[in-house]
Amino acid sequence: MSSRARVLVLNSALGPLDYRVPHGMSVQPGSIVIAPLGPRQLLGVVWEPERMPSDAEVGDNRLRNLVGVVDVPPLGEPLRRLIEWTADYYLAPAAAVVRMAMPSSSALEGVKTITEYRATGEVPDRLTPQREQALERIGDRQGLIRELATVADVSDAVIRGLVKVGALEALQVDIDSPYPLPDPDHHQPALSPDQRAASATLVANVAAHEFHPTLLDGVTGSGKTEVYFEAIAEAIREGRQTLVLLPEIALTEPFLKRFTARFGCEPIAWHSGLRSSQRRRAWRAIATGQALVTVGARSALFLPYANLGLIVVDEAHETSFKQEEGVHYHARDVAVMRGKFEGCPVILASATPAIETRQQVALGRYAELKLPGRWGAAEMPAIEPIDLIQSPPDRGRWIAPPLVKAMEETLARREQVLLFLNRRGYAPLTLCRTCGHRFQCPNCTAWMVEHRLIQRITCHHCGHLEPTPRACPECGNEDTLVAVGPGVERIADEVKALFPEAKTAVVTSDTIWSPAKAAEFVARMEAHDIDIVVGTQLVTKGYHFPNLTLVGVIDADLGLNGGDLRASERTFQQIMQVAGRAGRGAKPGHVYIQTHSPDTPVMRALITGDAEAFYAAETDSRREAGAPPFGRFAGIVVSSEDKAAAQEIATLIGRTAPQVDGMETYGPAPAPLAMLRGRHRFRLLVHARRALDVQDVIRTWLGALDWSSKVRVTVDIDPYSFV
Ligand code: ADP
Ligand code: ZN
Repeated sequence: MSSRARVLVLNSALGPLDYRVPHGMSVQPGSIVIAPLGPRQLLGVVWEPERMPSDAEVGDNRLRNLVGVVDVPPLGEPLRRLIEWTADYYLAPAAAVVRMAMPSSSALEGVKTITEYRATGEVPDRLTPQREQALERIGDRQGLIRELATVADVSDAVIRGLVKVGALEALQVDIDSPYPLPDPDHHQPALSPDQRAASATLVANVAAHEFHPTLLDGVTGSGKTEVYFEAIAEAIREGRQTLVLLPEIALTEPFLKRFTARFGCEPIAWHSGLRSSQRRRAWRAIATGQALVTVGARSALFLPYANLGLIVVDEAHETSFKQEEGVHYHARDVAVMRGKFEGCPVILASATPAIETRQQVALGRYAELKLPGRWGAAEMPAIEPIDLIQSPPDRGRWIAPPLVKAMEETLARREQVLLFLNRRGYAPLTLCRTCGHRFQCPNCTAWMVEHRLIQRITCHHCGHLEPTPRACPECGNEDTLVAVGPGVERIADEVKALFPEAKTAVVTSDTIWSPAKAAEFVARMEAHDIDIVVGTQLVTKGYHFPNLTLVGVIDADLGLNGGDLRASERTFQQIMQVAGRAGRGAKPGHVYIQTHSPDTPVMRALITGDAEAFYAAETDSRREAGAPPFGRFAGIVVSSEDKAAAQEIATLIGRTAPQVDGMETYGPAPAPLAMLRGRHRFRLLVHARRALDVQDVIRTWLGALDWSSKVRVTVDIDPYSFV
């Protein structure tokens, strides 16, 4: 009798397929296998047949043989249940979710040793300045040619030259060599009484080996990181793994430094910049349980941890945890589910928790621990409004006189300033003064944004780039193009004009695109090589610069204009976060927020510091509207390069919307972003009662319809984006 295996192959268009397991091969649920598909071979994962029904039962005699089993541990049962749950909840193909748990096949199979280099101590006869610099900076480091070149800030050729003359030698390194183990007692700080109480509870939760979701709600600078580090220390002592999720990889850099100070070595950082050999090593160490602490953004969530003892979601309110392409999942919510399946505690840390999370606390589903004050002598900064109607900036300027004055005073005290504006580039809109022509992206319903640093205009939706034109393409006039409104680059120009002596840095995803760039920025701030930072939301969180004492919010009203359901909440969170960068050390902090409407509830809450009143009012209005977390939304986006085809299917979906008690369907209507990356888009919005299984309704509804491959239909459960 031959044995069969049901396999989820890594092809989202296919359901599970059955294969024969040849003699001598043994598989179990979770085994990673190589399966033939037509003329190709694909990776797949063996699944319990009863949990993954197949539409096409194939007779034993028509089965194809599996080609092989990959020599890595099978995906564990909790992860398999999580994959099923995610696919079900977000209406995604199981294979698309499985893919997130797997490394690329080259990383699974690839080479096992690599060649690294280190100094021999020999000094070359011809010691050029570059060679000297390289040897000095490399010191006793060991690494690939490219890594050493980066460290030394020289070209690869310089490093190769040093190898040739015998100053560097080659070593064969086993790339699966174990990672150093963090030491839970390396440097334990003395905790404040509040911190001690909170950490004791978290440590006990880790020791209990049970699912236990907890909101760690502490003001900015209260030392939340130090508190959850104690829980991590407990997991390390027990030899169990921890996953720390951060909203952006730019934040891993400060995290790695603090982790190393506390535990004596770096954790495993999982991000898209890893080389295939690093990826292989990290993935395998995670799968065998050797890697004790892993930090990463969303993509670290589905890795095959062998014995997870703790999950931490830091800055848990951040909307960047919501994935907006592929599987539209929310990493915070899936992290809690993972904790449930793994049977381990989950810590959601935030100074400005999401209303969804606060509601879980109110319902008693999550526990809550509070850190009401900043650590040490640091005080919360004072927040003051600047009414832009009463004290407007000069013509063509954006920094109002009171903020300019505060900047002067801060710089005179040799302290640092942060100006926050959540807009990349120089100006959000460029138009021709003569004919009114505006630059629109050819692929999207969006204006092109001028970036002077790179002398391009670009689309922030699809990345389309063009050289900044000299003349108007419409009327041909030269020098008639004007920038409308400010972006961070324009604010930086204004700062340079006001304070020509000060050192200014622009910090956005355009200037900080890698962990190394983030490290460089941190080092420059710490060395006080920067006086004034002009930045987007990238600088609003995670960083701790004790000498930064003044924060100016250039346009506090900006986020309120979008009109989406979380606009007020997001504005509140963002400004609280950026305000939280001020005065984190011994020196007091000041925050000025420039606004046209200081009397809106958000601004009032920010100024008075009455977060509870704001949350209460916001929660009430959500409840009244049946908006999340009291009701549910699902977005349905129909898109195609062929507008008529998209419209036709959107209309069909709208027409066949089921009449279900407690559910309403709106649309279709052209999406606010009516065209994106060359595809025309139509939206429908489903609004349902909390208790309704809206996924089931949508599955049946859309499952009965058919459309050509030109048309793509994307369902977004619990959407954060409505454009
Ligand atoms: P949060 O994440 O709540 O904003 P952090 O964890 O960044 O706060 O802590 C703010 C600063 O205070 C950091 O520099 C941190 O090292 C320091 N800190 C917090 N708690 C302690 C402690 N118990 N001992 C020493 N330093 C601490
Ligand atoms: Zn575009």
